[in-house]
Amino acid sequence: MSSIPKIVILGAGYGGILTAQRLQKELNYNEADVTLVNRHDYHYITTHLHMPAAGTDSIEHTRVSISKLIDEFKIDLVKSSVQEIRLHDKKVILEDGTLSYDYLIIGLGGEPETFGIPGMAEYAMSIRSINSVRLIRAHIEYQFAMYKNEQRPQERINFIVGGAGFSGIEFVAELADRIPKLCKEYDVDPALVNIYNIEAASSALPGFAPELVDYAVEVLQKKGVTFKFGVAIKECMPNGVILSTGEEIKSATIVWTGGVRGNRLVESAGFETMRGRVKVDEYLRAPGYENIFIIGDNSLIFNGDKPYPPTAQMAMQQGVSCAQNIVASIRGKELRKFEFHHKGTVASLGKGEGIAVVGDKKYTGFKAAQLKKLVDLRYLFIIGGIPLVLKKGRFI
Ligand code: FAD
Ligand code: NAD
Repeated sequence: MSSIPKIVILGAGYGGILTAQRLQKELNYNEADVTLVNRHDYHYITTHLHMPAAGTDSIEHTRVSISKLIDEFKIDLVKSSVQEIRLHDKKVILEDGTLSYDYLIIGLGGEPETFGIPGMAEYAMSIRSINSVRLIRAHIEYQFAMYKNEQRPQERINFIVGGAGFSGIEFVAELADRIPKLCKEYDVDPALVNIYNIEAASSALPGFAPELVDYAVEVLQKKGVTFKFGVAIKECMPNGVILSTGEEIKSATIVWTGGVRGNRLVESAGFETMRGRVKVDEYLRAPGYENIFIIGDNSLIFNGDKPYPPTAQMAMQQGVSCAQNIVASIRGKELRKFEFHHKGTVASLGKGEGIAVVGDKKYTGFKAAQLKKLVDLRYLFIIGGIPLVLKKGRFI
């Protein structure tokens, strides 16, 4: 190792930003060189993406310039796309250069998992980045415009959301809130519009508290969502989907929220993975590598015999812990085991509605919606203090 260790963080998502911020706080002057690599010069708040996707909030509430979150005198920000991780050479290949590392933190986030469903990767859109949600929003508006300029084809105003996990439910709720406004703007009778949420399991939000699931389904049905439970999407086409029942639903808009996997770059680096996620050790290191930490949606940690679901709160806590362990490692001190503290789950159901579980308490409706806002504001405060809360926070 060189006299000043080189630390490279890949990805400025929830995990990467928290790692960078904690390193910049804990490292002394000249103790290490830290480089943060991200495809964009902004950090996006993934947990908000369903809103700009449906068009119920602006993109600008959902992203923050990374230079506002880190001290560029302490951390070098490289805006580039990672192409390859070369473990044996201790190098990362970028689209426009190469970086060497002594310590590597992989926080590249997840990718949609299509399970090889024919046509899904080609014809469905997914909620995964600022660019992908811009496309969904523009596509939905375009369907309304086309509907009035063609012979009123029903598929233009049929909308399909594949998967009723948290992403599907939160997006379908926003879409249901947006449709009446689009109908008004484009002079379309709301009674003609269909929103389908198709879920392979027997209910929405599999595994979540049943009374909260029932509440969510009822709220969304009242907003005009048609659920199909126990029915899987078998094929996706440019103009609709085929279901496991053989039924075909015509639609020009298919948004896939059927699952996530780890980043393919992690797999191709040669790590052993389960759907792109690496089972990390108790210090968040990749098996066999004392200098490589894997966090967020690319890591896999078991809670008993089941893996923890990939969430922002997991990525954030891992970011802090891995930064502390890297500092400890540089200083020759003992590393600390990572322990996840589950703070609760809150899901939005559109304007003024939500469901939440915090400890053994369950919340629905306005209270849950307020909790969701609090969680969002808390995150802005953690990464950017009061100025960011005032700039990007949504209080109403
Ligand atoms: P991410 O936050 O995804 O960040 C990865 C970063 O890496 C991004 O900045 C990306 O641009 C960058 N990157 C990717 N590939 C490259 C490359 N090749 N080169 C350079 N940079 C690259 N979790 C919750 O706990 N609560 C919620 O309410 C919640 N809501 C969600 C809503 C939606 C719609 C979605 C999709 C997910 C939600 N999640 C939620 C899950 C949560 O967003 C993820 O678990 C979390 O973002 C994972 O953090 P991460 O740091 O691993 O990756
Ligand atoms: P998920 O894996 O949690 O849900 C995907 C859903 O799609 C499942 O219910 C699955 O049964 C269904 N599905 C899979 N194949 C299907 C098919 N062929 N046809 C129909 N349905 C199918 O994925 P997600 O909702 O994107 O969530 C990803 C992660 O992000 C999870 O860990 C989740 O907890 C987290 N998240 C959390 C929040 C929140 O806390 N508010 C919001 C969004 C996402």
